[in-house]
Amino acid sequence: MGIGDDGALINPSDNQQLVVASDTLVEDVHFPAAATGRQVATRALCVNLSDMAAMGAQPRWFTLALTLPEERANSAWLADFSAGIAEIAKQFDIALVGGDTTSGPLTVSITMLGEVPPAESLQRSGAAVGDSVFVTGYLGDGAAGLKSISSINNSCINSDRLLQRFYAPQPQIKTAIQLRGIASACIDISDGLVADLGHICQASAVAATVYTQQLPIAEDVRKLSPNNCIDWALFGGDDYQLCFTVSADKIDKLEQLIDGGELNACKIGTIQIAADGGCPVTVLDSNNSPIALNKQGYDHFG
Ligand SMILES: [Mg+2]
Repeated sequence: MGIGDDGALINPSDNQQLVVASDTLVEDVHFPAAATGRQVATRALCVNLSDMAAMGAQPRWFTLALTLPEERANSAWLADFSAGIAEIAKQFDIALVGGDTTSGPLTVSITMLGEVPPAESLQRSGAAVGDSVFVTGYLGDGAAGLKSISSINNSCINSDRLLQRFYAPQPQIKTAIQLRGIASACIDISDGLVADLGHICQASAVAATVYTQQLPIAEDVRKLSPNNCIDWALFGGDDYQLCFTVSADKIDKLEQLIDGGELNACKIGTIQIAADGGCPVTVLDSNNSPIALNKQGYDHFG
C-alpha cells in the first residue's frame, strides 16, 4: 500500500535482503538554480538509483521529500518536476510509496529501497591484493557536463550529451546485477574515481594503482579539454559509473560478459598491499610516474 495513509506498507520478496539508501540534493550545492524542474527530478532519482547499483540491488520503492520555495510552488514547475520523476520511475520500474512536501529552499530528498539476495550484495570491503580494478562506461562525463553548465553564460561550451550526463546520469543497475558473484568490491563514482576507489581501499585495507592511459574517456570530453580531461576522470565525480574489483579466478567470467557486449567495463588498475598513511590510490601517468593527488574535491554551485 503506497501513498494515502500515514505510512507505506511494503512486502519484500521472499529470501531477499532490503537495501536502503538516502540522498539529498540542495539547490546551488548539487544542482544550479537554473536547472528545470525536470532536470532536478531526474538527477535526484538517478543519483539515488546509483547507490542501489553500487550495492548490486534491484531498486523497488522510493519516498520523496520535497522542500519548495514560494516561487517554485506553482503547477507549471511541479508538472515539469513530476514528469521527470515519472520518466525515471517508469524506466527503472520503481514505485513512489510516500513522501512529504514543505516550504523552504529547494531541496529534494529521496529514500530508495531495493532488494538483493542475501550474500550477493556488492560491498566496499571485499577487495583483495591481486584483484583487478574496473570501471563501467566513461569517466569525466559528469565533470565535463558540469563545466558545460557553468559555461552556458559565456557560451564557450555546450553539449546536449554532457548536459544529459549531468542531469540524468545512467544508474548502472543492470550491470550491477550482472556483477553479483563476480565483483569482490563495488562503489558508485559520485565523488571522483580517486576518492571513491580510496573508499574501497579503506574498507578493504588495501591500496590501488590506476593507470591514466587506461582511463575510459569519451572522445568529445577529450576534445573539450585535452588538458583537463584526465583530471576530470580522476577527480571530477558525478559520473555515477561503477568502480569494482575482480579476483583473478573471476576475470574470465567478467571478460566473457564484456566480449559478448553484455557489459561495458574496462580494466584501469590493480589492488596491492596497503602502505602506511597517505592516499591509498596511486595514479601512474603514461611514463609510469606517479601524479600528484592534491585535487580531490567537489565543485559546488553558488
Ligand atoms: Mg554512493
